[in-house]
Amino acid sequence: MSQSTYHVAVFRGDGIGPDVTDATIAVLEAVQKRIGGFCLNFSSYHAGAAYFRESGRDIEQGSEQAAEQADAILLGAIGLPEIRYHDGTEIAPHLRLREQLQLYAGVRPARAYPNTPLPLADPRASTIDLVIVRESTEGLFYSAAVHGRAQVANENEVRDTLRITRHTTEKLHNFAFQLARQRKNHGRPGRVTCVDKANVFKSMAFFRKIFDERAEQFPDISADHNYIDAQALDLIRKPWSFDVMVMENMYGDILSDLAGGLVGGMGMAACAEIGDHHGLFQPAHGSAPDIMGLDAANPLACILSGSLLLGYLAEQSGQNQLNRAAEIIESAVYTGFSSGRLRPLEFGGNQGTRAVAQEVINILPTVG
Ligand code: ATP
Repeated sequence: MSQSTYHVAVFRGDGIGPDVTDATIAVLEAVQKRIGGFCLNFSSYHAGAAYFRESGRDIEQGSEQAAEQADAILLGAIGLPEIRYHDGTEIAPHLRLREQLQLYAGVRPARAYPNTPLPLADPRASTIDLVIVRESTEGLFYSAAVHGRAQVANENEVRDTLRITRHTTEKLHNFAFQLARQRKNHGRPGRVTCVDKANVFKSMAFFRKIFDERAEQFPDISADHNYIDAQALDLIRKPWSFDVMVMENMYGDILSDLAGGLVGGMGMAACAEIGDHHGLFQPAHGSAPDIMGLDAANPLACILSGSLLLGYLAEQSGQNQLNRAAEIIESAVYTGFSSGRLRPLEFGGNQGTRAVAQEVINILPTVG
């Protein structure tokens, strides 16, 4: 069988970014060896706050083009609180990348794994399996992606713009409905909830209107709405009742941390950022400077993002081995928790970053 090669541009970034990225590449290489038929070719580039301090640039010259040409992008985490641009904001070249590559759909799954510490006492918390689809190129982050967009009115007032366009929003909602359809094929209910504040903001009423229009094209998927404040409450009261939720950028930023917390912590929060022609995969957490350099980070968010990367390459290429590879990473994590073999420090266990990755690799043959 001929071997297909896929180029992956890697930005290890700051803080715990390099640790979780290295752990993920180790797992991806082990899976590749195990399944065969494809070859992932990794090329690393500098980006982030530490690189900015050394070089005055926030991303290596030429690497944005390399990312654009790659089949997929893997990113650890970017930003350190003490290193900032002149305007006081954190170093964030990845926000520009999102816009450059038009990565409008930020996919953030939150799934409860067995034997993980779930903060909600209700036993139904063990069935949480939801996905937040966060619009990632406009919304309230529109001002932040490019310097100069935030409007400094005068010394006493600053405004940020919340931008919603029909072009992006139609694609975003289509994506959410298609995702719910795919999940329905795997036993999930097939439901999309539009999270907004349509009772207050014109931009949000527009977001909801487009959602309702697109819902008509997906009669097999149920569609409903929730206001952002009620959704925050419902994610604590009954998170098990949600399937796919779609929302504006800033709402998605906040609720995805909440969803990560519901299933144990940010160390489980995987993320895919998908556009029409590009896919970037990164854990939803930040650089966690409080635990950097300690081999203490839970790499599973990044490893599960690696599984999403393989699933994306499978969809783009039609190569089935990549789907198998994506599935066995998910299964290894599931089996690791159900058997008690995965015990990350984040959950009070004794496994640091490298030990967690190694245990996932050890489990692969038992689930393949
Ligand atoms: P950002 O604004 O870049 O998203 P943040 O300030 O929200 O970052 P994180 O870096 O995500 O913060 O960290 C939030 C908390 O979660 C910290 O206490 C951190 O130690 C913890 N945390 C984040 N990621 C992990 C991980 N992979 N493993 C263990 N703990 C983590």
